[in-house]
Amino acid sequence: SGKAEAAKDEGSFDVNLPDAAEGKVVTRFPPEPSGYLHIGHAKAALLNQYFATKYKGRLIIRFDDTNPSKEKEDFVQNILTDLQTLGVKGDGPVTYTSNYFEQLQKECERMIREGKAYVDDTPQEKMRAERMVGDNSVNRDNSVEKNLAMWAEMLKGTEEGKKCCVRGKLDMQAANKAMRDPVYYRCNPMPHHRVGTKYMAYPTYDFACPYVDSIEGVTHALRSSEYHDRNELYDRVLSDLDVRKVHMWDFSRLNFVYTLLSKRKLQWFVDNGKVEGWDDPRFPTVQGILRRGLTVQALKEFILSQGASKNQNLMEWDKLWTINKRIIDPVCPRHTAVISEAKVLLTLSNGPQEPIVKILPRHKKFDGAGKKATTFTRAIWLDQADAAAVKEGEEVTLMDWGNAFIRGIHTDADTGLVTGLTGELHLEGSVKTTKLKLTWLPEIGELVPLSLVDLDHLITKPKLEEEDDFTSVLNPVTRRDTPALGDANMRNLQKGNVLQLERKGYYIVDVPYLRKEKPVMLISIPDGRQKDP
Ligand code: ATP
Ligand code: MG
Ligand code: MG
Repeated sequence: SGKAEAAKDEGSFDVNLPDAAEGKVVTRFPPEPSGYLHIGHAKAALLNQYFATKYKGRLIIRFDDTNPSKEKEDFVQNILTDLQTLGVKGDGPVTYTSNYFEQLQKECERMIREGKAYVDDTPQEKMRAERMVGDNSVNRDNSVEKNLAMWAEMLKGTEEGKKCCVRGKLDMQAANKAMRDPVYYRCNPMPHHRVGTKYMAYPTYDFACPYVDSIEGVTHALRSSEYHDRNELYDRVLSDLDVRKVHMWDFSRLNFVYTLLSKRKLQWFVDNGKVEGWDDPRFPTVQGILRRGLTVQALKEFILSQGASKNQNLMEWDKLWTINKRIIDPVCPRHTAVISEAKVLLTLSNGPQEPIVKILPRHKKFDGAGKKATTFTRAIWLDQADAAAVKEGEEVTLMDWGNAFIRGIHTDADTGLVTGLTGELHLEGSVKTTKLKLTWLPEIGELVPLSLVDLDHLITKPKLEEEDDFTSVLNPVTRRDTPALGDANMRNLQKGNVLQLERKGYYIVDVPYLRKEKPVMLISIPDGRQKDP
């Protein structure tokens, strides 16, 4: 049965939460507004929504805004946008942990009065060392009066207060290090994006999250399994506060090869100008991967296919892009481009004297993709790579046109590059017998300048270990721009349009046509066939 369960786990989120009664389940998605949502957060959000829906319960969207040093309003707004993109909607208004600061402060004070917490001014390094070996802090047995006096200094944010934090008086010798007197409150003089400078001290996630979950009526708190060791602490905080219990349920954290999924690390790339911003198409953020050409449908399908299992999974990107290709290929229009560098003119001796324009479908099997105008001229542009591949006398197929014989090949003796071709149309020839099917563009007419953008992973190591310094494995080159020309129809493409350049691959429009001198920027969409290096 273990096997059957694992199989079931793999295919969908379809598992049961403990103690879940229809109409009674309340889940929550609690992002910290310290960055945009990434694909791991997308999984957490969709999973919480899935269970709220499955049990006809409620989903709460709550901003976990307890650290003013990392958080800002801009992140709140972008996370709301990202949730909307994912189709994740809370039942009831969005909430904020900062709505509860007053209560949390009172509760913390009560913990101090009841001897369940104490104030400690042990320097951070020393505290860490004591925690490692299980030594008590010198402040652990201070009187309640002394603790309250130091707490007052913390709330005022005085020099003395700023050295202090409140710690739960749990068990410094506990096997689970999360239980070794965790920090509940700490000072931070930075203004908070919602409450400004009202507070000098803020609750930690470990203290605030269980309390707010309980107060807001959450029945099932889902979180990724790397926090598993802290489940015991979560329960303990609830029992020390004497508030309603909440079920804690772990799911697997999503990880990808060659990918950082930590907002702190992503922020580093933004701060150091290694990317354009949080929506950079090299970023694993929701905005980044959609800008790279992923569809929301593919993202959701992929995440659902992960299942709800508790195993950590390190995913390959190609799986996601393969799903995406299956979605975009049947509908996205086809266009033609020729690489600008060393492009070659093929002159057809019996080609049309005057240009001929025909209206063709933009997708042969899907009318919904619309139509395009194709211009047939006596001379046509080919890619250098194609020109170098043809042989004298060879019959080739010109796509959307017909066959032609290659008659003459002119090569530059110094560079070895093909500089010109001559040929002859042979439209009665069978396209089934030719080896080469060539894409081409008319010599005459307004071709559209393009920039084809290929992107690569930001780091060169597939799986970063805890001790790895990510700045030592940066990929020096993560973007390559190739100038090209596109068919005249491409002038009408809009930002975000997905298309296929025949024989080149799928692309998404990042910058549309503005004027002749400015290339249309097309970002290459992986199609799942490029294996990660
Ligand atoms: P980061 O390290 O990127 O800051 P975080 O876990 O601190 O991530 P939060 O905004 O606190 O970010 O997370 C909100 C929710 O998203 C939490 O429930 C967390 O468990 C979940 N989550 C974060 N990263 C992942 C991931 N890679 N896979 C699955 N769930 C994740
Ligand atoms: Mg967090
Ligand atoms: Mg984290």
